[in-house]
Amino acid sequence: MNPAAQSAQYPVTCPACNTINAKRAAELLQDKRLCCRKCEHTIAMNERQLNSLRRTLADMGSYLKQDKPLAEQRD
Ligand SMILES: [Zn+2]
Repeated sequence: MNPAAQSAQYPVTCPACNTINAKRAAELLQDKRLCCRKCEHTIAMNERQLNSLRRTLADMGSYLKQDKPLAEQRD
C-alpha cells in the first residue's frame, strides 16, 4: 500500500454525537474502531465502512502512482 495513502487521515462521524473524528487510515483498518474525541463513545467500523475505506486507499494509491494527471493520458 502506498505510504502517503496509508498515513492519510480518514474522517469518521460519531453516531452518538455527530462529531467528525479523524484517524490514520492504516490504523483504522487495523483497529476497526476509534474513540470519539468529544463523547468518548467507541465507534466500531462496520464492514461497509471498512470496504469504503479500503477502496479509498486503493484509489488514492493508484492516483499517487500516476506520473501525469489523468487528463493528459490520451493517445
Ligand atoms: Zn461522540
